[in-house]
Amino acid sequence: MNNINRQMAAAERVIGTTASLCPQCLRRIPAVLVAVGDDVYLEKSCPRHGRCRAIIWRGPPAYQSWAAAGQPPPADVATAGADCPRGCGLCPGHRQQTCCLLLEVTGRCNLACPVCFAAGGHGDDDPGLATIETWLEQLMAGGGPYNLLLSGGEPTLRDDLPAIIRRAHARGFPFVQLNTNGLRLAADDAYVRELAAAGLSCVFLQFDGTDDAVYEKIRGRALLAIKKAAIARCAEHRIGVVLVPTIVPTINDSHIGAIVRFALARMPAVRGVHFQPVSYFGRFPRPPADADRFTLPELMTALERQTDGQIKTGDFRPSAGRHPCCSCHANYLVAADGALKPWAGREENCCCKPPAADGAAKARTFVAKRWSAAGNSRNAAVPCPEVVTASLDAFLDAIDNRALTISAMAFQDADTVDLARVRECPLHVRHHDGRIIPFCAYYLTDRQGESLHRPRPDPERRP
Ligand code: SF4
Ligand code: SF4
Ligand SMILES: [Zn+2]
Repeated sequence: MNNINRQMAAAERVIGTTASLCPQCLRRIPAVLVAVGDDVYLEKSCPRHGRCRAIIWRGPPAYQSWAAAGQPPPADVATAGADCPRGCGLCPGHRQQTCCLLLEVTGRCNLACPVCFAAGGHGDDDPGLATIETWLEQLMAGGGPYNLLLSGGEPTLRDDLPAIIRRAHARGFPFVQLNTNGLRLAADDAYVRELAAAGLSCVFLQFDGTDDAVYEKIRGRALLAIKKAAIARCAEHRIGVVLVPTIVPTINDSHIGAIVRFALARMPAVRGVHFQPVSYFGRFPRPPADADRFTLPELMTALERQTDGQIKTGDFRPSAGRHPCCSCHANYLVAADGALKPWAGREENCCCKPPAADGAAKARTFVAKRWSAAGNSRNAAVPCPEVVTASLDAFLDAIDNRALTISAMAFQDADTVDLARVRECPLHVRHHDGRIIPFCAYYLTDRQGESLHRPRPDPERRP
């Protein structure tokens, strides 16, 4: 089954087998999950480049019980095609339909962050509006509508972003989200007004901490005032905001509780916090050591500790419609006294469902309600029947004004990638050649910065 032949130390146990990639050459190779106490490592060996291992899970809750809580159970990677993940497109072996579809609308950026999954800040050859309209037509013909995520680079460098959003709506995509660092949103009120008028549903705002030292280290400059101004403008123009912190050990892992408090203080404009433990693909300063990694259980534990137990590890569940070890989420209602009440925790609190009749459509509608600006949830056409309580009005009011979602996604890089996880992925990227590719398969890069699927984003080799 695997060629990881070595003497195991007494404290080590193999708890699973899977397939991964060599971080040097991206060759597909067998891999094992090795538990050492509560920690779990992904270990593998390339015939050419030798053995390597990386931490993927540190501490409680126990990996195996967490993984077993996912619904449906993860696939056996052995049943995936031998060509996975080079055969993406999606291939018939992929286990999850598209829930959220990311469109790269520019490679340009107005920051030069030392760590960037997209290695943004290159090229001046953005796809034109007519090209993007063709993409939208193809996507709708190929199974849409999906929730769209406009990404880059920094999408707000495009003056025609409102036109892109209008075209997406006109083509039948009801929910359009924006990945942004917020610089232009903070500075250009007319632009934010245009985005709102075009029907932008939600902003995913890069937000790494509550003091400028964090931004100087992670983003290269002080940005906190800019983030605050961006949130205020979105609130004014009724665009929902989800804060997206990239968590880097020793730099901002002590800011996790403060970020939640910051979000709570800005509800209902801020709809949620979506943590992303740092992954090492695209642009990063050096090959990562285990000390450079921050895993999902550490995040859940830090949330509990840094909020004095207001948030509890036990509030979190694996998100449905993907591999359980990819993400976690918890939903809260904020009581009048400020206390956080965990809410539901049922599977519909996720944007994705296993491929089934109308599951994905219902789930997309639910996300649209939850992350749209307060009041805009009432515009969503179809209530999600599983979550409607005795009073629909009370439910919508709670969603509008008092609900906060805390979630996280543990993106995979060439060291940590588990193909059983990638095969369950519902977050997809449209390649410029038209293929639909799971996010982690699209962005991961080898030690030289080469990608499996994505053209290398540098000035000499533009996409
Ligand atoms: S990741 Fe999914 S789409 Fe890509 S080759 Fe593997 S099963 Fe197919
Ligand atoms: S993007 Fe990566 S971490 Fe997220 S669901 Fe897909 S495979 Fe898992
Ligand atoms: Zn290799």
